[in-house]
Amino acid sequence: MNAVELTKSLRELGLGKGDAVLLHSSLISLGHMEGGAEAVVKAFLNVIGKRGTLLVPAFGALGIIPEVLKKRSDAVFSDCPVGTVAAVGAAAEEFCAGHWKADTAHGKNTPFTKLAEKDGWICLLGVDQDRNTSLHSVEALLELPYLSPVTRTFRTPEGEELTKTWSFYPGPHRDFIGLDRILLESGAMRVGRIGNAQVRLIRASKMFEVLLALGEEDPAFALCTNPSCADCVRQRAAIFAAEMAEESFRLTVSSRLAGRYVPEMIENLKRTGISLIELDYLQGKACALTPADKLRRAVEELAEAGIAVSALRVPAVPDDPAKLAGLASSCGIRRVILPLMNSRDAADVLKKAGVEVSFVNLCQSALSAKKAVAELAEKSGCDLTFNGPRFVQAGEMPFLQSYRIGHFIKVLRQLDVADCKWDGEATALACGNGEIKELVSILRCHNFNGFLCLGGGAAYPGSLEDAVNDFRDLLGTM
Ligand SMILES: [Zn+2]
Repeated sequence: MNAVELTKSLRELGLGKGDAVLLHSSLISLGHMEGGAEAVVKAFLNVIGKRGTLLVPAFGALGIIPEVLKKRSDAVFSDCPVGTVAAVGAAAEEFCAGHWKADTAHGKNTPFTKLAEKDGWICLLGVDQDRNTSLHSVEALLELPYLSPVTRTFRTPEGEELTKTWSFYPGPHRDFIGLDRILLESGAMRVGRIGNAQVRLIRASKMFEVLLALGEEDPAFALCTNPSCADCVRQRAAIFAAEMAEESFRLTVSSRLAGRYVPEMIENLKRTGISLIELDYLQGKACALTPADKLRRAVEELAEAGIAVSALRVPAVPDDPAKLAGLASSCGIRRVILPLMNSRDAADVLKKAGVEVSFVNLCQSALSAKKAVAELAEKSGCDLTFNGPRFVQAGEMPFLQSYRIGHFIKVLRQLDVADCKWDGEATALACGNGEIKELVSILRCHNFNGFLCLGGGAAYPGSLEDAVNDFRDLLGTM
């Protein structure tokens, strides 16, 4: 392979006079190249001519071809310490100007997005999509929640020392390789062979169009699905947390669903991006019956990991409400969930001790729950936790019957997000008779600002991650 042959191949692939092209390359991939990297640069400049512009990334370990271009006397640099490019040609100055002033390293007003505006190309010469820096531009333009800011102290082209933060900077792992097929099938990319190397020529504007649409639909479009990839698991968690922050309700999860031991609960909550937990069971035992020092340690450990307790759920009417109030207070738990029936006296004791009380329906019909709520409300107001599976087990349809019969909307402060069949068998969400989709939907329509508790007061047939995926899917179909 020599410069003449390479020039011919690049022309055949579609590169032409006046084009702007951002080149990511591996010289070794071409096999033997007469004249080495200099000849490659020469071939590209020949093809695009005097009106064209050749750009290369100029940060990190980039191989010999960018080095050759960087050393040219006519090379222009974009002077952004987190994403510099070097350029040669007609629009080199225009591409590079003010890169460091942009809000992000790869988004608006950077050489990467200017390339698309000028209808330029991205060329991957013997390298794959992992090297395609412009994919970071797509992430930055979408302002994806897993991206984070980066700060550097550097010298501006005018020689002034400056400390600046660029937002939406990319994280560690992404499955950019998985986007290759999409770019090819959408017509944004063509693939050829030059020497030994696979060459990908991508129309930048088309790539942005296709991937921005994909990212709008699925913000995890660039993440891998490997459950062992801690980076992508964490990045997915950030996406879910951002989605939940947009909702009016607050999402909490049952500790039984989160794990058996506290460290396991913390890891699972981190993996899913949830920062609230409802304490029902710890190591298979009711939290309400756990010694105070043990429960306090658990609450402290959770708090250190940034996880707050939304409530302590009590499985039965407490025999010693004063003791329960003491347990909650000494652990800093401000809200307790009690059975709706026969808990009035216990609730009074807890409320006197400054603990909020919510009542949950257990083995009862909506009519009896309605009566109990009315009696409580008459005296001092009632805060209801609505458990669909329990109404199912009472033979009712939680949305069509229970919710409507009870007129619970006024007192509802929590919805348990779980499902089961008439015979009590626990199912995934919207796979049983619990009408959970209808219940979640109606509460969203009311901009419900109470708690939704995943796996609250019910068994869940799967892991927390399964439950979160089911819940996301459920919201996705509304
Ligand atoms: Zn990954």
